[in-house]
Amino acid sequence: MGLLDGKFAVVTGAASPRGLGKATAKLFAEHGATVAILDLDLAQAEAAAADLPGAGHVGLACNVTDLAACQAAADALVAKWGAVDILVNNAGITQPLKIMEIGPKNYEDVLDVNLRGTLYMTQALIPHFRSRKSGSVVNLSSVSAQRGGGIFGGPHYSAAKAGILGLTKAMARELAPDGIRLNALCPGFIATDITAGKLTDAQRASVLEGIPMGRAGTALDVAGCALFLASDLSAYCTGTEVDVNGGSLI
Ligand code: NAD
Repeated sequence: MGLLDGKFAVVTGAASPRGLGKATAKLFAEHGATVAILDLDLAQAEAAAADLPGAGHVGLACNVTDLAACQAAADALVAKWGAVDILVNNAGITQPLKIMEIGPKNYEDVLDVNLRGTLYMTQALIPHFRSRKSGSVVNLSSVSAQRGGGIFGGPHYSAAKAGILGLTKAMARELAPDGIRLNALCPGFIATDITAGKLTDAQRASVLEGIPMGRAGTALDVAGCALFLASDLSAYCTGTEVDVNGGSLI
């Protein structure tokens, strides 16, 4: 028996083969969910969906910074499946810039994909979730929101991810009476394409020194927590942030 048997899940930004979204979509499918992978490129989204275990998964092109595109994707999935139970707002970009290197376009792009995209995709599904008095939303924040900076994202990335924490709590408070839960995940240093091959040996050693568990996280480490938050195991959790960081904040 899977934790998500009979559930329909949407995961944004899940076409990246080694990414957290793809690992989450795969674990959800292994637990019985039918999954829609939303990403910028239709062919990549469809290929990622075809790669999931089980049948009925869907790949759709959807730029999450475009509200009309989010609504079109939500409407298409509700029409096709009759229901959506779970949304994982995973699409995100980083730019490793220092304060004075951040230009208007950098700021717009990072805030748009991470923060605006999280709001828009959630807004697109709220009417449906409300009509069913049910829905679980998992938003990808980051340890960068909690302690600032980090090697991979600039201050604007920290701001966007901190914004996601505020957005998650505010929406969780407003939507709790409607039976809709929203929670955030804060991954630390996770081995994905964002982090692969971008560190010198000295930088890597310094990062690992700050992690009590002494290793980078894996995409599966994050997917497991997403599964907990998406499923009924976390039925009494809303507005929370779950740290997946090997103890980095202890
Ligand atoms: P990734 O780059 O592997 O995947 C991100 C995906 O988002 C890509 O498939 C990309 O095409 C998609 N995307 C980008 N812009 C989009 C848009 N406008 N609309 C739809 N899709 C879009 O990244 P990842 O490492 O898997 O990270 C996933 C999430 O987890 C991100 O939100 C990231 O900020 C967060 N995160 C990652 C780490 C880490 O160490 N990897 C740590 C903390 C938080």
